[in-house]
Amino acid sequence: MYLLQTPKLLRALSPSFAEWEMPVAASEPAVYLTFDDGPHPVATPFALEQLARYEAQATFFCVGKNVVEYPDLYDQVLAAGHSTGNHTHNHLKGWRTNTKAYIEDTMTASRFINSKLFRPPYGRIKRMQAVRLHEAGYRLIMWSLLSGDFDTGLSPQRCLENVVFNLKPGHIVVLHDSTKAWDRMSYVLPRILEHCKKNRWALKGL
Ligand SMILES: [Zn+2]
Repeated sequence: MYLLQTPKLLRALSPSFAEWEMPVAASEPAVYLTFDDGPHPVATPFALEQLARYEAQATFFCVGKNVVEYPDLYDQVLAAGHSTGNHTHNHLKGWRTNTKAYIEDTMTASRFINSKLFRPPYGRIKRMQAVRLHEAGYRLIMWSLLSGDFDTGLSPQRCLENVVFNLKPGHIVVLHDSTKAWDRMSYVLPRILEHCKKNRWALKGL
């Protein structure tokens, strides 16, 4: 069970420094696409190619162990000018991991991911874990809109509708460069980019 858009109450209960959307500049409305769980040998090059086609920037929340496995792909993300973020080293579930181990795992990832952006896997993090990371200078990046691309029971078309029917400037959108999301992400990404182009929304990294 997941909700595409986070209810206001849940946002209010999250730490005050958690970021759920970005301010909108009237002169240049922008959307912030994010890709979690990579680098991935198929999905990441595809995402880079599509983004380049639209001169779009995005943010890749990488899993440290995947950066270790695919360092060249990580370098390609940086070389294309995108932002990267820390998504822990082993894709840990915050609620099931003690805070010390969670912070240590994130610091392991930080040896390979030079970024002060952090997104918790599954969007789940204990308050103390979030506070510790905040104290260490990390920005806790949540989301405005889940595409649902990780949901293998969702058709690519429905996944696309989830995004384009709800997307607004300032939104932080979650996509995944992963095997699980591939069928949907590969369908929706080019169409989201086209949708943003038609609306004259810039695509920016965080
Ligand atoms: Zn993840």
